[in-house]
Amino acid sequence: MTYDNTNIFAKILRGEISCHKVYEDDKTLAFMDIMPQAMGHVLIIPKCQAVELSDLPCEYACAVFKTAQKIITAQRKALGVDGIVQVQINHAKAGQSVFHYHMHLIPTHIHELSKHESIMADQDELAELANKIRTVIDDE
Ligand code: 5GP
Repeated sequence: MTYDNTNIFAKILRGEISCHKVYEDDKTLAFMDIMPQAMGHVLIIPKCQAVELSDLPCEYACAVFKTAQKIITAQRKALGVDGIVQVQINHAKAGQSVFHYHMHLIPTHIHELSKHESIMADQDELAELANKIRTVIDDE
């Protein structure tokens, strides 16, 4: 699939749409999912044009996983959770809805996973959760 730079995550990367950021470096951005499947649901995206896993250059795959390790540690400390489900969907036929590669880190049990893209979160709550996770990362 050809990358379309009008997708919502490309707009977030360009700063055209806001997000509740938890971490950023030269190759990745991590922010709160707007329709979380559990409290503290974070998305990690690479700063390159990749629709899904098959398009993702190895250096960015590595950067995404490095950021994921930071986020998972921070989610555990900030939210007092242990179990975190890592999900990444490839293709509309698998349920992908935003066509810029992204990894989900969802603090829950796989059997408790809420419905995908169902309930919009409260913005103040998202801001508070982002702040909690960010504070742990900043203190490390
Ligand atoms: P996918 O099905 O593509 O793996 O999931 C896309 C995810 O992006 C969903 O979990 C959805 O809630 C999230 N999402 C969609 N639009 C926005 C947005 O504008 N901002 C944020 N932060 N998340 C979004």
